[in-house]
Amino acid sequence: MVELANTMDWPLVKGIVSDLDGVVYRGRTAILDAVEAFRNWQAEGIPFCFVTNNSTHTAKDVVTKLNGFGLETTQDNVVTSAATAAQLIRQSYPAGTRIYVVGAPSLRKAILDAELVITDKQPAIVIMGLDREITHEKLRIAVDAVLKGAVLIGTNPDLLLPTPTGFEPGAGAILTAVATAARVKPIIVGKPEVYMIEAALSRLGTDRATTLMIGDQIPTDIQAGKRAGLCSVLVTTGVPPVEDPSLQAPDFIISSLKQIPLKR
Ligand SMILES: [Mg+2]
Repeated sequence: MVELANTMDWPLVKGIVSDLDGVVYRGRTAILDAVEAFRNWQAEGIPFCFVTNNSTHTAKDVVTKLNGFGLETTQDNVVTSAATAAQLIRQSYPAGTRIYVVGAPSLRKAILDAELVITDKQPAIVIMGLDREITHEKLRIAVDAVLKGAVLIGTNPDLLLPTPTGFEPGAGAILTAVATAARVKPIIVGKPEVYMIEAALSRLGTDRATTLMIGDQIPTDIQAGKRAGLCSVLVTTGVPPVEDPSLQAPDFIISSLKQIPLKR
């Protein structure tokens, strides 16, 4: 995709919600302009909160990584799909609700931290994130539970994840296997849904009109930002953008976060 001329003026930026992978880092490598941009915003007192669909890392893991890149953060700066999913469940279900978890240890921790019980016996909810140890047995238990009435929740809809050598199936691909077999539509927590954006906004306490949503993917980051009413910024440092006319276009397309004006 070519870099398009931006047609509107930048708002006076008072808060930032941002994706992580492809924006602040690529895998284990920091994107230096981005780290510097966030440090500049920090110095100006502009609050930011990261929202990540990745359910295989805890907020603490993310903070350790960001601090290692020289961007001092705390867990207040990070909203994960796993923690958001657990909080959403607790809005409708009491402590002790039985949950079957397909996912990484970080997702299991988020569920346990929310005082929910992990079990494969008669769960009320099946929650699925990225599970690199997925087996047919796990899929069987999930499908069987959903057919017996359990609610199916996915941490995120991402179908493909980039790897150093190519791609791997994401949480959405595993979720789709169960949803297809059981013929149900799962509840999705991560972007493009707005739950994590709303969680970030309540932490920032900023107005939607002066808060940016920054991301590298139109189907997830930009759609979530637009749905939540934020000014959406696509940065071309991550996954190569796919043209899809059915999706809402970003308000701005930039190649470096340093192109975002600090002040007007
Ligand atoms: Mg990304």
